[in-house]
Amino acid sequence: MSDHQPAAQATAKPPSAAKSPTPLAAVKGMNDILPPDSARWEWFEDTVRALMRRYGYLNVRTPIVEPTPLFVRGLGEVTDIVEKEMYSFVDSMNGDALTLRPEGTAGVVRAAVEHSMLYDGGKRLYYIGPMFRHERPQRGRYRQFHQVGVEALGFGGPDVDAEVILMCRSLWRDLGLSDVRLDINCLGQSEERKAHRAALIAYLELHQDAMDAEAKSRLYSNPLRILDTKNPALQAVVEAAPKLMDFLGEASLQHFAGVCRVLDAAGQPYRVNHRLVRGMDYYCLTVFEWVTDRLGAQGTVCGGGRYDGLSELIGGKPAPGIGWGMGIERVLDLLQQSGVAAPQVVPDVYAVVPSLEALPLAMQVAETLRAAGVSVLMHAAGKEAWGSMKSQFKKADASGARHALVFGADEMARGEVACKPLRDAAAAQSSRRIAEAATWAHELRTA
Ligand code: ATP
Ligand code: MG
Repeated sequence: MSDHQPAAQATAKPPSAAKSPTPLAAVKGMNDILPPDSARWEWFEDTVRALMRRYGYLNVRTPIVEPTPLFVRGLGEVTDIVEKEMYSFVDSMNGDALTLRPEGTAGVVRAAVEHSMLYDGGKRLYYIGPMFRHERPQRGRYRQFHQVGVEALGFGGPDVDAEVILMCRSLWRDLGLSDVRLDINCLGQSEERKAHRAALIAYLELHQDAMDAEAKSRLYSNPLRILDTKNPALQAVVEAAPKLMDFLGEASLQHFAGVCRVLDAAGQPYRVNHRLVRGMDYYCLTVFEWVTDRLGAQGTVCGGGRYDGLSELIGGKPAPGIGWGMGIERVLDLLQQSGVAAPQVVPDVYAVVPSLEALPLAMQVAETLRAAGVSVLMHAAGKEAWGSMKSQFKKADASGARHALVFGADEMARGEVACKPLRDAAAAQSSRRIAEAATWAHELRTA
C-alpha cells in the first residue's frame, strides 16, 4: 500500500479532527547544540586544532560504539563508569554486547593495538567527540557530553607527562582563561598501591562508623576511591589516611620528580593532592586534574594520567601511555563565567536583490565573490513574499554583514552593482563593475 494516500481515504474522520502527534523531544541529558551557541563550539574546536598542530598531535576518530568488554576490562569493574554509568546494550541483530563509549582512552588504545600503530615508535594523538554516561543530569553533567582528549602512546618518560600537562596551560592561554589550577599526584605502580591499600584498609576499618554506605561498599573492593569521596562528613577521615606517596619506591619517586622539574622550570604552579586518585583503574604514576572554583560542584574541567598497563589489559603488547580528557561543556561554561566571548562570525556581504529578475546575475556575482574567499549571505524568500527592499535591508542589518551589495535594476543595466557599507556610517556608497567582481572581491573580505 502506498504511503501517499489522500487523507480522506486514509482516515474516516475529517483532517481537522485528527489528533496531532505528541511532539518528540531529545533524550534527557542529551543536548542540541544550535546557533548562535554552536559558534562558540566551533571557535573552541578551531582553537584546539591549532594547539594540536603546534604540539605535533595527530587526529584520530574511533567508533562511538565499542565492544562492552573493552571498557569493563580497560576501566575496571569497580569504577563509577562500569558499575552504573554505561549505556550498554545487546545488538538484537547478532547478540553482540556493545557500549556507547563513556570515555576516549580505551578506544584509542584499542585502535593503536589493532592497527599496530606503535611499530615504528611513539604516537601523539588527539580526538574530539561525544561521550555517553548515564548520570543524573545537572549543570556540567550530561548523558551525552563532549570531550577533547590527547593520548601520547609509546613514551615512558616523565617529559611527556609534563608535555601533555603544559598543553592544557597553553589552551587556557589561547582561550583567555586564567582561573584554572593544577592538581597532581603520583599513583606509583601496582605493587606499591597494594602495600598502600593494605595500610589504607587497616586504617579505614578503624573508622567504619564515620563511613557512608558507598564508602563501606568500597572498603575492600576499591578503597583508593574512598579517598576521592565528595561526602563532606568523610573529609577528616580521608585527610588523615595513609598517603600513597609514602609507599612509593625510588623509580616512581624519580618519575614524579622528573615531571615536577619540568613544570617548575616552565613556571607552572601545581598542588600535590594526595587524595587525587582518578576514577579509572588503568592509571599509574602521574595523575592530574585541572580545577576551577567557578563552576560549582562540577569544577574539574580536565583530568588525565599515565596508563602504562592499559595496552596489555586489552590484549596488546606492553606500551606506555599518558593522556587527558577535557569536558567541553564545562570549559565553555567556564568561558562564559569568565566573560570570555567567542569572536563573532558575521558575513562580509548581504546580497540585497530587489526583484526575482535580478536573482540569476546576483547569484553569479555571489559565487565569484565566494570563490575569492568573501562570505556572502544571499537574500532568500521567506514562506510567501520575496521581501520588500525595506525588509531586506533590515535582514542585512540583523545579519551583522559589513556590506550590502544592492542589485538594483538601474545599476545592473549599466553593468554595475551598488556597494553600501553597513557598519561604518562615515563610509560612502560606491558602484562596482559586475564583470570585474574578481578584482574588487578582496576589498570586501575581512579574514
Ligand atoms: P567527575 O568527577 O566530575 O564525575 P570524572 O572523573 O568522571 O569527572 P573523567 O572521566 O576524568 O571525569 O572525564 C574527563 C572530563 O570530562 C571531566 O573532567 C569533565 O570535565 C568531563 N566530564 C566527565 N563526565 C561528564 C559528564 N557527565 N558531563 C559533562 N562533562 C563530563
Ligand atoms: Mg564521573
